[in-house]
Amino acid sequence: MKAIDQIYINGEFVSPHGTATFDLISPSSNKRIGSVTLGDETDTQNAIASAKAALKNFSNTSKAERIAYLQAMHDAVLKRRDELIAVMVQEYGAPLQFATMSTDHAISAFPSAIETLKNFDFVRTVGHSKVRLEPLGVVGMITPWNASNGFICSKLATAISAGCTAVIKPSEMSAMQTQLITECLHEAGLPKGVFNIVNGLGEVVGAEITRHKDIAKISFTGSTLVGKTIARAAVDTMKRVTLELGGKSPNILLDDADFEQAIPIAIAAAYMNSGQACIAGTRLLVPEDRLEEVKNLVKSTVAAVKVGAPENEDTNIGPMVSIKQYNRVQDYIKLGMAEGAELLIGGPGKPEGLEAGNFVKPTVFIQVKNNMRIAREEIFGPVLSIITYKTEEEAIEIANDTDYGLQAYVSSSNLERASTVAAQIAAGRVLINQLSHDPLAPFGGFKQSGIGREFGSYGLETYLEPKTILV
Ligand code: NAD
Repeated sequence: MKAIDQIYINGEFVSPHGTATFDLISPSSNKRIGSVTLGDETDTQNAIASAKAALKNFSNTSKAERIAYLQAMHDAVLKRRDELIAVMVQEYGAPLQFATMSTDHAISAFPSAIETLKNFDFVRTVGHSKVRLEPLGVVGMITPWNASNGFICSKLATAISAGCTAVIKPSEMSAMQTQLITECLHEAGLPKGVFNIVNGLGEVVGAEITRHKDIAKISFTGSTLVGKTIARAAVDTMKRVTLELGGKSPNILLDDADFEQAIPIAIAAAYMNSGQACIAGTRLLVPEDRLEEVKNLVKSTVAAVKVGAPENEDTNIGPMVSIKQYNRVQDYIKLGMAEGAELLIGGPGKPEGLEAGNFVKPTVFIQVKNNMRIAREEIFGPVLSIITYKTEEEAIEIANDTDYGLQAYVSSSNLERASTVAAQIAAGRVLINQLSHDPLAPFGGFKQSGIGREFGSYGLETYLEPKTILV
């Protein structure tokens, strides 16, 4: 049983002023594995004051100093890689395969930031002016539970690159993961107050960050609903916002694709991170006249997907993070059936032998219409909807008929054709014939999937304010 009863302010682990506690429950067994003492408004204000005091010196650091800090952070996080993976499996229920990849992404955020920083000009000549890109100030970072340390590392690495200081509020459900990453980052030896980490609830700590006048920008990753609340409140103090929100990503299987290759990729895209991924490809658009072929391949691929204990090396899908999330996914599966979609595989209830945890049967619906709620709303579990199309134009139309626009996928044996289709999809990132990530390229959403971009030079610019100087 792990009791997390400290938060991190001004370079030290301190007891919070807040006294409320939150139970940490294993998603695999639903047994209590720890508790976290939650910070309150006073703690948040203390963290903001500390970040504000640190800003004066930190905003004036040189590129070389920031690179040295990023390198120290990288080394400190890398040293505890195995523990970081293990705690993600234990607390969040991430399958070992995913936890390993996610932790490696978190670690690589620092070298990626260094590379970006080395090639970035903070002073530019535009017209007959000098433009200085200056640090925005104190940045509030609010993160979700589905890859907690990855978000903390990438946002913080960008803030350090920009010369900003930070107050971080992770999900209260990620407290054990947060504790470990905080210990790593503390070890890196940054100046006091440059980053502060406050455990707490969204409506308490998150709301205080959102309303406080000394926070210049919020970088938020989470649901579209909460993102809208933050954006509305942030405007009172004219905070800059970067919002990384939800998705309902389309995956277009063009008729010339190699289905034997494309279907396993489509299933992996739908079920990544146990389906709890903003970028999950949850709408598979297939040519109507090849549905039978698709059905057979999908069935055999999903039958081979392993649901089970997240610590097992061969597990593809672990438990949902909480009972609430499990129930939400179950409700959507029942809704899909009630809406008239047909179950191809999976369905309600838990897989046999996995009754103790929040395990879901990997589920695929066919006969889905794009106006059904299962095709429009983010389910955040291993549930795939297959939708048929008649022509390429119709496939693009269905792909774009969504409020979201985070990611899309296209499969084709003709790369030129796939690129032409990709160009017509309203999404922040389109993956052709593969699943991968580019840490230097911009990431973020069109439409209600967000505002702004993260990563690389595009991400760095959102932590800076341009100042034009005319002599
Ligand atoms: P959430 O929106 O419920 O919570 C995210 C964070 O916001 C948490 O730290 C929470 O405590 C905080 N919060 C809640 N209410 C708040 C308020 N009123 N003011 C300020 N902060 C508040 O999201 P979640 O359930 O933790 O995560 C799942 C969601 O995150 C999904 O919708 C998913 O698509 C999205 N997500 C998006 C991306 C992306 O990069 N676009 C990545 C991962 C997850």
